[in-house]
Amino acid sequence: MLALQGDVAEHAAALLSVGAHPVEVRVPDDLAGLDALVLPGGESTTMSRLLESSGLFDAVGERLAEGMPAFGTCAGMILLAADVMDGRADQRSFGAIDVVVRRNGYGRQVDSFEQALPVEGLVGGPLDAVFIRAPVVERVGPGVEVLAEVDGSPVLCRQGPVLVAAFHPELSGDLRLHQLFVGEC
Ligand code: GLN
Repeated sequence: MLALQGDVAEHAAALLSVGAHPVEVRVPDDLAGLDALVLPGGESTTMSRLLESSGLFDAVGERLAEGMPAFGTCAGMILLAADVMDGRADQRSFGAIDVVVRRNGYGRQVDSFEQALPVEGLVGGPLDAVFIRAPVVERVGPGVEVLAEVDGSPVLCRQGPVLVAAFHPELSGDLRLHQLFVGEC
């Protein structure tokens, strides 16, 4: 998992709980032998800057282009998106999934919320979803599957091996999305 910044420990714990073997990625060499990449929540502008300075941006971009599965949550979703609105001018994203996102589209910290979210194809009832300064998905391309929505706006999307969530599945203790992603890898 990408371990430059953000809620790395929570994702690592969730991944361990579902039987995966999380490896912290901080430099390009850490990508060797990796089957899949989780991009955590945090601050996408900071992560974008650290991806560049560590030399990871191009290395991760290459692996994603080769079809490495990826799961991005909140800031991680922003990093995987095709285009970012209201980002910093120098902020980059991988374009690994054909969605356009607007940073902080649900408002600022005070507007964070938690909600029971019905997810397409997920057994066991609605998912407990925590939204913190979450991005809004403004547009999804034709190849993108929308698995969950809030007020008609997509919050969980998949395109091939890339899964993105506007919320934080690693913070609620509901590990079914981690299970789903690891199961598919
Ligand atoms: N607003 C943050 C960003 O732009 C994302 C928030 C989060 O990951 N909780 O990166």
